[in-house]
Amino acid sequence: MDDTSRHIACAHCGAVNRVPAARLADDPVCGRCGQGLLTGEPVELTDANFDQVVGRTELPVLVDFWAAWCGPCRMMAPAFAQAAAQLKGQALLVKVDTDANPRVAGRFAIRSIPTLVRLDGGRETARQSGAVPAGQIVSLARR
Ligand SMILES: [Zn+2]
Repeated sequence: MDDTSRHIACAHCGAVNRVPAARLADDPVCGRCGQGLLTGEPVELTDANFDQVVGRTELPVLVDFWAAWCGPCRMMAPAFAQAAAQLKGQALLVKVDTDANPRVAGRFAIRSIPTLVRLDGGRETARQSGAVPAGQIVSLARR
């Protein structure tokens, strides 16, 4: 990693893009598929593409492990989206549905949801269980 650019993996097609650090908040798009790379909105990842996107993205990644039946998860979803907007260009916020993606959920030993996991270079560096407000989500990504 150098100071002038970051590798960002596309959540849609998996292509790894090099984005100038100064342009991270300027709606960079994927060179292969044309979709937004850092839109300021959470992206859904799956067992199939999680490692590629998280492991190849040179920004802090916050994962929201959730499921549709989980009331506190649905309550926290707007706060997570708000945090994603505040962290646009600084961090990648992703959501993993633990029912649909048991492999990733199992690897992180997710026992209760919602659980937030911060990853740097694909390695876990922080974890927060339970629903938290947007400010706390932002702090988790910035610390
Ligand atoms: Zn793409």
